[in-house]
Amino acid sequence: MQLVINGLSKTYGNGVKALDNVSLTIPTGMFGLLGPNGAGKSTLMRILATLQEADSGSAMLGTIDVLKDKHEVRKVLGYLPQEFGVYPRVSAYQMLDHIALLKGVINNGDRKAIVEALLQKVNLWEQRKRRIAGFSGGMKQRFGIAQSLIGEPKLIIVDEPTAGLDPGERNRFYNLLTEIGENVVVILSTHIVQDVQELCSNMAIINKGQLLYAGAPNDALHAVKGRIWEKSIAKSELDGYNAAHTVISNKLIAGRPVIHVYSDARPDGFESAEPTLEDVFFSHINGAFRSVAA
Ligand code: ADP
Repeated sequence: MQLVINGLSKTYGNGVKALDNVSLTIPTGMFGLLGPNGAGKSTLMRILATLQEADSGSAMLGTIDVLKDKHEVRKVLGYLPQEFGVYPRVSAYQMLDHIALLKGVINNGDRKAIVEALLQKVNLWEQRKRRIAGFSGGMKQRFGIAQSLIGEPKLIIVDEPTAGLDPGERNRFYNLLTEIGENVVVILSTHIVQDVQELCSNMAIINKGQLLYAGAPNDALHAVKGRIWEKSIAKSELDGYNAAHTVISNKLIAGRPVIHVYSDARPDGFESAEPTLEDVFFSHINGAFRSVAA
C-alpha cells in the first residue's frame, strides 16, 4: 500500500495558491511533511483526510481514489487534526467509546476491548474517567492518537502534533508514534525539523505550495555535505554577511550570532559544519540549494 499524489493544486477564494501541482509518492512507515507556517501542509492534510476539495490532481491510496471515494477513505483513515477545537466535558473513556461507535464498532464487548486497549496503549488508563477538557497538551495529543487508531487505519494523518508540547510530552508522543505499525502510511506534518529527524524514514519539504524536496532525510543530508559553513560573528556584521553570502540560518549561541552559509567553496574565515536536517530545510526554503544546484 502506498499513497500516490499527482499534480494536486488548490487555490483559495482569496487567490492564495496553497498547493501548486504537488506530486508525491508516500510509502508505508513514517513520512515527514516539513514546511514553514503557511507552506500548505494543512491544506494537503485536509484534502487527503477528505475534509476539503482539491481544484485538480489526484491521490490514490492503493486502489482507493482519495478525492472521489471519500467514504472508502474514511473507513481506513485515522486523522489527528492540529486542534480538536472545543474539548468536550466528557471523560476520555466516554469519548473514545462514542467515536468507536461512530466508526461502526457496534458490538458492546468489542468496543470495550478496543477502548480499553487504546487507553492502555497511549498511557491514559489512569486518567480514563477524567474529562478531556482538563487534560494537558500532551495528554490531549495522546488522546488524539488513541481516537485516530480506532478501526485499524491504513492511512494516519497527524497535523502539527508536537506544537505546544513540552520536551517530556514530545518524547512520550514520539515513542507512541513509533509504535504504530510499519504497514501503515503515517504522514506527519510539521514545521519542527526535529520531529522529522527523530521519526521519519522519508520526507518532503514544501514551501509556498510547492514541493522542494522528496526523499530520505539521509540522502538530503548527503546532498548538502561539504557545502555548509559556519562562523560566529558580531551582531553588527550580520547585514554585511547577508549581503555577501547565502546565509541559510542565523542562531544565537551565548548571545552571539552563529551563521550557516551555503557555498560550494569555503568562504574566508568560515569553518566547515556537519550538515543537519535544519541546514537542509533552510537551504531548500530560501532557495540556496536550488540556485546552486541548478
Ligand atoms: P500550513 O499548514 O503549512 O501552515 P496552510 O495549508 O494552513 O499552511 O496554508 C497555506 C496558505 O493558504 C497560507 O497562505 C494560508 O494563509 C492560506 N489559507 C489556508 N486556509 C485558508 C482559507 N480557508 N482561506 C484562504 N486562505 C487560506
